[in-house]
Amino acid sequence: MSDVTAIELHSILDRQRATFLNAGPPALKQRRTDLRRLKAEILKRRTDILRALKTDFGQRSERESAIVELIPLVQSINYMIAHLGHWMKPQRRHVSAYFQCGRAWVVRQPVGVVGMIAPWNYPVSLALVPLATAVAAGNRAMLKPSEFTPATSAVIGEIVRAIFPPEQVAVVTGGGEVGAAFSALPFDHILFTGSTAVGKKVAEAAARNLTPVTLELGGKSPVVIAPGFAMRRVADRVAFGKLTNAGQTCIAPDYVLVHEDDRDAFAAVYQDAVKKLHPGGYAGSPDYTAILNTHHYERLSSLIDNAAAQGAQVIRLGTDSAPDHVLAPVLLLDVTPQMAVMQEEIFGPVLPVLTYRTLDEAIAFINARPRPLALYYFGDNRAERDRVLKNTVSGNVTINGTLMHYVQDDLPFGGVGDSGIGAYHGKEGFIALTHARGVYRQGRFNAATLLQPPFGKLADAIINLILR
Ligand code: NAD
Repeated sequence: MSDVTAIELHSILDRQRATFLNAGPPALKQRRTDLRRLKAEILKRRTDILRALKTDFGQRSERESAIVELIPLVQSINYMIAHLGHWMKPQRRHVSAYFQCGRAWVVRQPVGVVGMIAPWNYPVSLALVPLATAVAAGNRAMLKPSEFTPATSAVIGEIVRAIFPPEQVAVVTGGGEVGAAFSALPFDHILFTGSTAVGKKVAEAAARNLTPVTLELGGKSPVVIAPGFAMRRVADRVAFGKLTNAGQTCIAPDYVLVHEDDRDAFAAVYQDAVKKLHPGGYAGSPDYTAILNTHHYERLSSLIDNAAAQGAQVIRLGTDSAPDHVLAPVLLLDVTPQMAVMQEEIFGPVLPVLTYRTLDEAIAFINARPRPLALYYFGDNRAERDRVLKNTVSGNVTINGTLMHYVQDDLPFGGVGDSGIGAYHGKEGFIALTHARGVYRQGRFNAATLLQPPFGKLADAIINLILR
């Protein structure tokens, strides 16, 4: 990007910071009003948003977009409006006996200006939930949506400009170069959602300014199916999780680990479940989403070809439409960890199935790889479930289902290790974007005042009393 744009970025930040410092933290009433206006503007532009998403993806079901983008977004705004008053209340803290008559409390103060970078896969909710969180926390914000969803980014820009002055919230557009300049700005916090590779660059740039980061990244989220579990209870939910947005979901089940005796049963019911979701087929189905662009369509095709070349059984569960980059679901059996499909986040409707002989083997497989963003466990035996959950580390977990932890407003959402740093959503979002300022008000008298020079016998007595 040109120097001029970098200067523009700096000047937006400078103005936001100056007005933040000048105006002070907004009161609860103002924050609630801002959130209500944001929600109203989103609902007013609902049709524009859904059309823009369709334009950017080529094919994306308006109903699915409403379900997976707008409902979680609006619900999370409602949740923040309902709970913000409670979160903002100063919290009384304990004061030890020697400091009695004093008072201690914690105030969650807005950090100032938050920089937010969003990806293309859920370009509305992954831009506007962080924004709503920043507003709830009383901050100003600069948002950079993805360059790969220009129509949606334009609508997001219109929504923001309709309700916020640029010194409160600004949307800036651009690609990786703008992203790099953006993350080098001395923000008070950066919330980045995107790939692990770019997340590392953002963390590096932020470290130069000691800017704290929340990194919402990706990875390979496994599904572990307990031995002998009823496969019909698994297949629908795995298919739903894998095929929502055609698998272009950060928490999509990436691969399945199933007991070797159950593999064929799983493969059979999964194929039925996939057919049931789109009975008319996949190419041309208005309910199925296209792969974003040719680059990702070809990337996924080459993952399938690589698996086939290395001996995987490739079961295609529908017809593709290459010109529209619609990729029908694919089930891969006889997969080995060496195949390319097991080396990177799939981010598409391709499901590799791997087998294990003991649950410990499945646990070891997960632990030998980067920590996943989500873990899915299917099983009724509590001891087995506890063994898997206690002995693995991941972002969130859904038991006997997929994706649904994401829409629990009272759960933190975030990864760990390669899948992210920190969390947001609900209260954890408010905590992430505020500073916990501890305040102590000293009482007129307390024992500590007796521990000042000139020291004498009284000081000795108190020291000995404390150091018992
Ligand atoms: P990406 O990392 O390629 O891009 C994300 C954003 O970063 C875009 O706005 C892009 O312009 C910007 N960017 C690119 N280069 C940059 C740089 N050098 N410095 C700063 N910003 C830069 O990711 P993507 O392809 O848009 O999204 C897919 C990835 O995001 C997947 O890995 C997916 O798992 C992950 N993801 C994570 C979550 C989550 O909540 N954890 C949600 C959705 C997607």
